[in-house]
Amino acid sequence: TIIVVGMGTCGIAAGGDKVWQALENAVKNKNLDIELVYSGCIGLCYVEPIMEVHRPDMPRVIYGNVNGETALKILEEHALNGKVVSDLAVAQDPKEGKTVLPEIPILNEMPFYKKQVKTAIANCGIINPDSIEEYIAYGGYEALEKVLSSMSQTQVIEEVKKSGLRGRGGGGFPTGLKWEFAYKSPGEKKYVICNADEGDPGAFMDRSVLEGDPHAVLEGMAICGYAIGADEGYIYVRAEYPLAIKRLENAIAQAEEAGLLGENILGSGFNFKLRIKAGAGAFVCGEETALINSIEGKRGMPRVRPPFPAQSGLWNKPTNNNNVETYANIPGIIRKGADWFAGMGTEKSKGSKVFALTGKVNRTGLAEVPIGITIREIIFDIAGGIQNNKKFKAVQIGGPSGGCIPEEYLDTPVDYDSLTALGAMMGSGGLVVMDETTCMVDVARFFLNFTQKESCGKCTPCREGTKRMLEILNRICDGKGKPEDIDTLERLSNVIKSTALCGLGQSAPNPVLATLRYFRNEYEDHIHNKK
Ligand code: SF4
Repeated sequence: TIIVVGMGTCGIAAGGDKVWQALENAVKNKNLDIELVYSGCIGLCYVEPIMEVHRPDMPRVIYGNVNGETALKILEEHALNGKVVSDLAVAQDPKEGKTVLPEIPILNEMPFYKKQVKTAIANCGIINPDSIEEYIAYGGYEALEKVLSSMSQTQVIEEVKKSGLRGRGGGGFPTGLKWEFAYKSPGEKKYVICNADEGDPGAFMDRSVLEGDPHAVLEGMAICGYAIGADEGYIYVRAEYPLAIKRLENAIAQAEEAGLLGENILGSGFNFKLRIKAGAGAFVCGEETALINSIEGKRGMPRVRPPFPAQSGLWNKPTNNNNVETYANIPGIIRKGADWFAGMGTEKSKGSKVFALTGKVNRTGLAEVPIGITIREIIFDIAGGIQNNKKFKAVQIGGPSGGCIPEEYLDTPVDYDSLTALGAMMGSGGLVVMDETTCMVDVARFFLNFTQKESCGKCTPCREGTKRMLEILNRICDGKGKPEDIDTLERLSNVIKSTALCGLGQSAPNPVLATLRYFRNEYEDHIHNKK
């Protein structure tokens, strides 16, 4: 019998470590024949802490809202004596030949999971992230073996292009094309970078992947290294993610030991060395050229482009930079084929996307959905609608660079182009839901306050412009707004968008513009009624 405890940062924050401790003490002290293991986040953050019991004679049962005391009860009754503790059981996962337990929902049929697909986070919450053997048992490193043994560099690039995968970090640039640019750039030395500097408020997709399935990212990066001709890579991960760093370090050591990273990988002659660089908490370092400066030991400030990193990136060498989720998709694309991946999604946005569901929804957590699903399906079917039967008001998609979407657009498909047309953006996948009690001017102020504080100060429109905008928003929220403030906000927004040096500044006004577009009456109400 195996007991699994969810030990991502979300699980630990909810008390998963205490559950682990209680179970570990009991198993050791009583010398029980139980294998106790941990996993990353399975996505059900709203019922953390989570533990699962796998008895050979019963379906896998997932328990939620467990604590040290109830964990021991589950250990005693279910793990040792085969009796399910029904009031804490969240779901069961009956595999072939196992009896289905009456009254306990089937995992894949739960409203939270029914519309989900699992590609980038397929292993999260399933395997032990610190075990390369478990990753390999689930098909891990097969893709790397395949490219090294039977594919040329251009074949790999063509396969990624054919899959239609677009960058999952926000911009949505076609990944295969990006790889091709770096491949075609002349140079003996090239680099691969993984941007794991996830900093949007409300976003935790990349952290969950790194904590739940770090080898998938390493494998994706190694495949990219082979494709573009790089022998070195960096994972730039924020220092606020200590558990992700720890699991990455362990995964790199294991992969090196297994001959899957380092020199002469699998006897192919391909060398690929990976290093971790911990970022110091500057949001702007999520911008690829600022990130490159930071790895080089310089102040994390964006560079003027061109040249683009594919021509001149890290230490002025051709460099490919993708984010965590993008790399995590690569092994599946190579293993199962580009057509499999391109079979999901819309014409211009293929595959699936991971979203972090937060805010006023009933079921917060991590969900991976086929691109093209509607916003309504994510918020109401998967996330279970609004807490306390309140009314939905808006959803902020894409973090501080994105924008809010009101009720009338709930049936919009979630894809790169449809969201941009509404003044929001796919971004990295943070989804913050607001109910009828939320003041939308305050929401705009919150996000602008964030970007203003994170502005690196290199260029005037962003450094000064966001400050002036924030002053105006503060004034409006304090009931001291002037009639001309809305016009000034719009004018400043447009100037900053068109003149700021990097994406941070160019997108900083988006939350203000989107709230002005859909909730202008709230600005006017504050200004005219002095509230
Ligand atoms: Fe720095 Fe803002 Fe200019 Fe970007 S737009 S370079 S963050 S000041």
